[in-house]
Amino acid sequence: MNKAIDRSAPVFRINHLVKEFGPLRAVDDVSAEIFHGEAVFIIGPSGSGKSTFLRCLNLLEEPTSGEILFKGRKINAPKTPVNKFRQQVGMVFQNPDNQMIASIVEDDIAFGPENLGVPREEIVERVEGALESVGMSEYHDKTPTKLSGGQKQRIAIAGVLAIRPRVLVLDEATSMLDPQGRKDVMDTVKRLNREGITVVAITHFMDEVTEADRVAVLSEGELVMQGAPREIFKEKDKLHGYGLDVPRSVALSHELFSAGLEIEPAIFDVDELGDEICRLLSDN
Ligand code: ADP
Ligand code: MG
Repeated sequence: MNKAIDRSAPVFRINHLVKEFGPLRAVDDVSAEIFHGEAVFIIGPSGSGKSTFLRCLNLLEEPTSGEILFKGRKINAPKTPVNKFRQQVGMVFQNPDNQMIASIVEDDIAFGPENLGVPREEIVERVEGALESVGMSEYHDKTPTKLSGGQKQRIAIAGVLAIRPRVLVLDEATSMLDPQGRKDVMDTVKRLNREGITVVAITHFMDEVTEADRVAVLSEGELVMQGAPREIFKEKDKLHGYGLDVPRSVALSHELFSAGLEIEPAIFDVDELGDEICRLLSDN
């Protein structure tokens, strides 16, 4: 992504985070940093602790041990004032239907800033801005339940944006959407990230990961791999070992590479792969 990432100070610093549910260690000694402006995507098989990790970051879960620093200050559920924290870290969940509160789109989006005591005129401004950011301005007076899944998720994102957070946290926000809804939501997230919002997202769609600045792989609660998408996808067999697939174009470039062709084994841009194949054909 073509944008600035400020690596001088992390938004989140996570030190030896552990979360146990009884005898189960859902998050097992995870240490990581997330920088301002970064888009970090978390992948891992079902039950690997992705949601629990994110819920700890967002004060929805209290860590068993370890610490989380947000902008250099230790946060701790339930001690940190949640309302204040939520103004900076907004969360979007999997099911768009569980995130709608009001019966009119603009009221739904106004709910967050209203709760924060934002003055009326400013709420109107924020609602308009948020709707515009997600490309849903013309739906301001519609009923949320009548929208498509992708539209609902974009309204949910607008609701979070109206709070003006610095960080957007998404837990499989596209998993219940059709391909068009998924694309619209991903395009929205990508654009917001380019405009400066830090993104931390869980997904099980490998093609979404290709847009990340950094990919983190969780397995049985442990952070087992992290790096740029290209670096991560080079390790196709290792990913398979963790029960994860690679995007199709990556799999194909791996095949061609294994067959002895001079091609990078982790190409995830379909157009780029096409260009490379054309180049190989014309070379021969
Ligand atoms: P993921 O999001 O990667 O699918 P989760 O973080 O939801 O994984 O879950 C990790 C593990 O923790 C799973 O084994 C899950 O059953 C368990 N778990 C998650 N939340 C709870 C809870 N509130 N109580 C007990 N076990 C939980
Ligand atoms: Mg989950």
